[in-house]
Amino acid sequence: MTCRNVETKLSAFVDSELTGREMFAVRSHLAECESCRFELEALRTVRSLVQDSLETPPLPDGLEARLLSALDAEDRKSARPSPRLVFAGGLVCALALLGFVSMNQKIERDKERQFVEGVERRLRSDIVFVSDGDAISGAPIVTATAYGRR
Ligand SMILES: [Zn+2]
Repeated sequence: MTCRNVETKLSAFVDSELTGREMFAVRSHLAECESCRFELEALRTVRSLVQDSLETPPLPDGLEARLLSALDAEDRKSARPSPRLVFAGGLVCALALLGFVSMNQKIERDKERQFVEGVERRLRSDIVFVSDGDAISGAPIVTATAYGRR
């Protein structure tokens, strides 16, 4: 069987539509002819591509665009925090700030109290002079005027 003969029968060969004798003849030729084997592979590739394109129904007009825009919208929605979450976050920050401020105020009150107690102790044990306050910090200046004399 010549290459030309095989080429005319390849399609029927792939579809198993040849007689037993023809199938055998084509198969024998293919075993020895690289060029016809290449043709056979090309034919099978084209067949499977055509079959795939027939099996996949085309998408309705605009469906792909609508799906993509819906997915984009969903992405944007999930990327942006919800107003409720923003409000909760703000509330947590406000409470934390409030706690921080009141804690600082307590620390200031404690410092003040310790200072006053210290002055009172010094007053009881020493003669001290308390000025109106430091010009820069405003903190009262306590000076022991008779330090060491009891
Ligand atoms: Zn051949």
